[in-house]
Amino acid sequence: MRRNLISLVKFLSLALLTIVLTVVVFRYVRNPPRYPDDGDEPDPRAPPAEAVKLDETDDEKIDWHDYRQISQDSRRKGLGEQGVPAFLSPTEDAVKASLYKVNGFNAALSDKISVNRSVPDIRTPGCRTKKYTKKLDPVSVIVSFHNEHPSTLIRTCWSVVNRSPASLLREIILVDDASTKPELANELDEYVASNLPKVRIIRLASRSGLIRGRLAGAREATADVLVFLDSHTEANVNWLPPLLEPISADYRVCVCPFIDVIGYETFEYRAQDEGARGAFDWELYYKRLPLLPESSKNPTEPFESPVMAGGLFAISAKFFWEIGGYDPGLDIWGGEQYELSFKIWQCGGRMYDAPCSRVGHIYRKFPPFPNPGRGDFLGKNYKRVAEVWMDDYAEYIYRRRPHLRALDPGDLTEQRALRSRLGCKSFGWFVEHVAFDLVDVYPPVEPEDFAHGEIRNIGAPELCLDSKNKKRDEPVAADFCKKDDPKASGEQEFRFTWHKDIRPKGKTDCLDVSRGHEKAPVTLYPCHGKQGNQLWRYDVGKQWIVHGYNNRCLDLDPAAKKVYVAACSTSVSTQKWRVENVDMKAINNWENAGPKGIK
Ligand code: UDP
Ligand code: MN
Repeated sequence: MRRNLISLVKFLSLALLTIVLTVVVFRYVRNPPRYPDDGDEPDPRAPPAEAVKLDETDDEKIDWHDYRQISQDSRRKGLGEQGVPAFLSPTEDAVKASLYKVNGFNAALSDKISVNRSVPDIRTPGCRTKKYTKKLDPVSVIVSFHNEHPSTLIRTCWSVVNRSPASLLREIILVDDASTKPELANELDEYVASNLPKVRIIRLASRSGLIRGRLAGAREATADVLVFLDSHTEANVNWLPPLLEPISADYRVCVCPFIDVIGYETFEYRAQDEGARGAFDWELYYKRLPLLPESSKNPTEPFESPVMAGGLFAISAKFFWEIGGYDPGLDIWGGEQYELSFKIWQCGGRMYDAPCSRVGHIYRKFPPFPNPGRGDFLGKNYKRVAEVWMDDYAEYIYRRRPHLRALDPGDLTEQRALRSRLGCKSFGWFVEHVAFDLVDVYPPVEPEDFAHGEIRNIGAPELCLDSKNKKRDEPVAADFCKKDDPKASGEQEFRFTWHKDIRPKGKTDCLDVSRGHEKAPVTLYPCHGKQGNQLWRYDVGKQWIVHGYNNRCLDLDPAAKKVYVAACSTSVSTQKWRVENVDMKAINNWENAGPKGIK
């Protein structure tokens, strides 16, 4: 009896196991996991997660991924699909050249790539499982464009439509800033009318620039959240929820996506880096500051950023209009990213970068548009921003861009009134609390050079280092010293700057050694301020000009008048140089000097 019972139990367990196994194998064969390849993901054929959620609470978080779209995208094949580099055939050279000229990127290639193309999901892995609050507001996406190439503009729209949850995308507003390309007129209207129901086009009567273009779009927008994009961008997987969640928690927060690079030549989609905080130098070039350690430890979490890159961000309409939108006095292009960023921080808001939101952007090879007859609009924009928001720090900008002093910025009364009406904080507060490491990396007053002037060889004292007004990437040489022969041409004045690099006076190209071999050539390369290949030190005692940390010294072949770096040796007289002016105090402090944060 007992034996029979045991056999029965054995038989039943075996049968149960067989059934379970059959069901599992059958399901797997019918629905193999398609995205990604690790097999742990939800069934791609399941309806979007948002439709199947469990209990309703206010702070409920859901998986916003659209697995159907993700699965479709993963199966796409063809030119430029998955963001791999694409190429035209040589027979297309003529059309390629003519479209390059008017766009600054390979627009002929764009025409061959699907407007619905897929992009690689290059988010940091934790983003794939991250959930966001269920209660997010829908957005109006605003895209101002002037003479954008049609296929990149349309691809921008499709990428937004395809990769945004339908419930979160109210509309896309295209603002045509007085484009003159005929394809952007009726043809675009017709395409949009029959293919893109969520897209509206508004046309500006005269060229207004991207700032007033975006303002016009924002005025038309009906959603509570505004998202601004450039007209040649591609939204990546699940880009919207990470932008919106911080805004749903606090309407005075502006959130930027990570901006990926769409290569201007091949349309390759790739990361530019794994994130950094946005900033500027005192010439108002956009720069980046390192992530703080806690952000590196939490790579999916939004982090505070002092300045936005410019083109792409989300902001609540309420806060945008509370702070007066953009200054409508800013013309055409440029400086608006500083204006809005300073204003957001100084007037009670905050700015975040959201690593799980990524949008690709075509960085042009060159700016293709002629100046629309508005003079130095960029200088004027900078002066408006400096005058209204930067207080005494404006002086540092004027020292580096002296022509701004005399430039008329136009009427600033309204902007100044806005600032005082909103009771905004000072620029000093911004520098101290938000961009707190800025002055270490980009000091408003640059420390003195370690040394400067003529660099004369000791072994061959008739010869001086000479960059000969060469272009970037060309070798630096030596020639007869101009001081001995004033008629001689050449470029023999150098600066050993506090960045620990060497540059011809008045230039931002640096002496650079990129090769490790014996007698490696010295070339000019744009100064990057990161030392590395551009790190130099003047050893006053030995009269050496030492490159990097490998004990290689600047040396000279007097007969060929060629310079190179080679292993330092006290017995080689051509490795000795006399630099005309040396600041001994600065040189003695060399170890502690230089930009902080560079290892
Ligand atoms: N833009 C505009 N009017 C202008 C200049 C630019 O509407 O007078 C648009 C342009 O089409 C693009 C955005 O503003 O969508 C940003 O300009 P651009 O891409 O040329 O700037 P970049 O990204 O190169 O800084
Ligand atoms: Mn752009």
